[in-house]
Amino acid sequence: MKKVLIIGAGGGGLILANSLDTDKYDVTLIDRDIYHYYQPWFLYMAFNGSKRKIWRKIDSLIKPGITFKNEEVTEIDLDNRAVKTNKDNHTYDYLIIGTGTNPDPSVIPGLEEINNEYGNYHSSVENANKLWNKIKDFKSGTAVLVQASPTCKCPPSPVEGMLLLEEYLNKNGLKEKTKLVFATPYPRPYPAEPMNRIVEPIMKERGIDLITFFNMESVDPKNKVINSMEGDSINYDLPIIIPPCRGAKINYKQENVIDDDRFIKADKYTMKILGYDDAFAIGDCNNLPTSKSGVTAHLQAKVVADIIDGKDSKFDGRINCPFDMAYGKGTFVIADYNHPVVPYPPTEFKHFMKISMADIYWWTLRGYVDFVFDIFFEYTKPEKLIKMYQASEA
Ligand SMILES: Cc1cc2nc3c(=O)[nH]c(=O)nc-3n(C[C@H](O)[C@H](O)[C@H](O)COP(=O)(O)OP(=O)(O)OC[C@H]3O[C@@H](n4cnc5c(N)ncnc54)[C@H](O)[C@@H]3O)c2cc1C
Repeated sequence: MKKVLIIGAGGGGLILANSLDTDKYDVTLIDRDIYHYYQPWFLYMAFNGSKRKIWRKIDSLIKPGITFKNEEVTEIDLDNRAVKTNKDNHTYDYLIIGTGTNPDPSVIPGLEEINNEYGNYHSSVENANKLWNKIKDFKSGTAVLVQASPTCKCPPSPVEGMLLLEEYLNKNGLKEKTKLVFATPYPRPYPAEPMNRIVEPIMKERGIDLITFFNMESVDPKNKVINSMEGDSINYDLPIIIPPCRGAKINYKQENVIDDDRFIKADKYTMKILGYDDAFAIGDCNNLPTSKSGVTAHLQAKVVADIIDGKDSKFDGRINCPFDMAYGKGTFVIADYNHPVVPYPPTEFKHFMKISMADIYWWTLRGYVDFVFDIFFEYTKPEKLIKMYQASEA
């Protein structure tokens, strides 16, 4: 039986493990944690104070026949098919890396101090709760949300955070006493121009000051000021900063397989690690020119499961990021390698879909609702939506 070793029981790793036939493959899944977290809900913990239980034990999310090992991978030698952990050594016939990405505040001077005090909504339940405690104590002054570097989990999430904060302050009678500032390294609040045509007017209407081309260089917690490489500075009372993202701190014997931010270089159609036929990188840990999102990790996992099974399958770059626009409305950011983002208008139903995902998610990991996703992805193909909107504009 061929040995399939999967590192990382995130959305990508779990879906891949559950997609493989355990009568044909000896599947081992390794994670340093014993829990899996539904990360999109960090938003509602940080900005609404939600206490929803968004974690489940990893061994409760895998089908029988898969071996789960709670170990931390420290070294990978792709030439010799060898993986070292804090507890053991492993070999494989196929390796799949799905180690995600983590915000790393240490790369920006001053940011660790801010992170320790204010938390963030991109890393853990503890940090999301920490941020909520600060938001709920905030009564007036300048609240600043900064996306510290262009790469972050879920491209809509910086704007979502800002819009949810505005809704919270507005509904709690604090808006008049508050200045809201959103700063991004991109030339516009939402990086993809067609979606920005929807997003920017909404942010302006809600009284949010927008600062673009803001590449965060440092933060001075003593004087409460955030500085950019471009020479701009923003004074704050409440800093909400999304730290830069980096790949896992694993020692790769073949150092050339990772880029400067530790993301794994992989083929954009097959997710094969460049130079290797037996090793793949799926989800947030790879350097593919697509969004870092759970949906993307899901689709890539399915393609890799097919490839291992001998099928001719390719990832088309499809993204489908749910986008909470606050006040009960939402949309999706939809595109693929061959089609730009569709300007998909916000509706209450799309918001309902985003919120419902927190329940459906757990079935998705086991593959129970694949048919629903297949129908949804088919119905919302970018080329179909583009045609639909062109027709409605004509
Ligand atoms: C605020 C926010 C909102 C979001 N909203 C959405 C959304 O609406 N829709 C959407 O699709 N996506 C959303 N995302 C993004 C989504 O959560 C991630 O893209 C997704 O979880 C990535 O899956 P993954 O499998 O690549 O990595 P992860 O789910 O991050 O899993 C990585 C796993 O690897 C393990 N690991 C790491 N290093 C090691 C090691 N050395 N040894 C062993 N194990 C290791 C970790 O413990 C973890 O379990 C959001 C994210 C955030 C933060």
